[in-house]
Amino acid sequence: MSGRVVVVGSLNQDLVVNLERMPLSGETVFGDDLERHAGGKGLNQAVAAARLGAAVSMVGSISADSAGDFLMKVVNEEGIDATHIARVDGLSGTAVIEVERSGANRIVVIPGANAKVNADQVRAALEAIPDIAVVLTQGEVPADAVHAAMATGRARGARTILNPSPVQDYSDEIYDLVDIAVPNEHEIELITGRPAPTAAEATAAARRLAERGAGTVVVTRGANGSVWSTLTRSGSAGSFTVRAVDTVAAGDAFCGVLAAAIAEGRSLSEALRWGSAAGALAATRAGAVPSLPRRDEVEELVNIDH
Ligand code: ADP
Repeated sequence: MSGRVVVVGSLNQDLVVNLERMPLSGETVFGDDLERHAGGKGLNQAVAAARLGAAVSMVGSISADSAGDFLMKVVNEEGIDATHIARVDGLSGTAVIEVERSGANRIVVIPGANAKVNADQVRAALEAIPDIAVVLTQGEVPADAVHAAMATGRARGARTILNPSPVQDYSDEIYDLVDIAVPNEHEIELITGRPAPTAAEATAAARRLAERGAGTVVVTRGANGSVWSTLTRSGSAGSFTVRAVDTVAAGDAFCGVLAAAIAEGRSLSEALRWGSAAGALAATRAGAVPSLPRRDEVEELVNIDH
């Protein structure tokens, strides 16, 4: 039994400036070129779920200008339902990313339209969308929108997943509404104050967040895989060995595919394996949206050694 994945989250235009070296304060330098990519954690995770084959709706905000048109085109190309993406005044979410030839980077994120996603919009969307299996959200939309996503999702009988990235100061009331929280090892430390460099420490920190209300807490650990804890049980999921070239969006691939696998009715341990395969594949390719894998690739990796 498959249901729909609803992603309540950000959509950004990523403006990537490639240059030899960053300017100093007050200095002007020439750049090599400028690229525009679709991004934002919400859109990345929606694309990851859609490429796995899930029916996906996105709830978010973009501007009424050409950047909004650009983002809407990507949403449509990926087959994501855009009925509940609002067009608002002002700027679309924008990340300005300067990348030196050495690989060093510097990033400025302007939330723009993402900051206008609000609780009323989220509630109305989640009440209108049929057959919701999973509601997935992240830290790039305001906390009241995250709260509304988790509360309305739970009220509709969906599984609720929160990727608390970037970390915001959420109340225990929000964590109480979360079935699965998915921070990485740095985020779980910021949330709980507990360093999590080892699997045992990450599991202990995950349990601490479960004590604050989240049902299951999964901590992703890059090439070391992931660990999870509830109040009473814990476990781990291994990683797949790949040649990593760029781990940007590995976490987004993991979260989107985890959500899609759960929407297909898979168990948590199966869904973690699918998410891990997607994260590993995303790490083998450059960029965010272009690096997100398709179902056949994920399925092939999941079935290795199985
Ligand atoms: P984030 O991008 O949020 O920091 P992680 O780096 O922890 O997230 O990656 C998410 C998941 O993707 C990991 O738990 C792992 O399963 C997979 N993954 C990430 N990097 C690699 C890698 N280099 N090799 C294999 N799997 C990886």
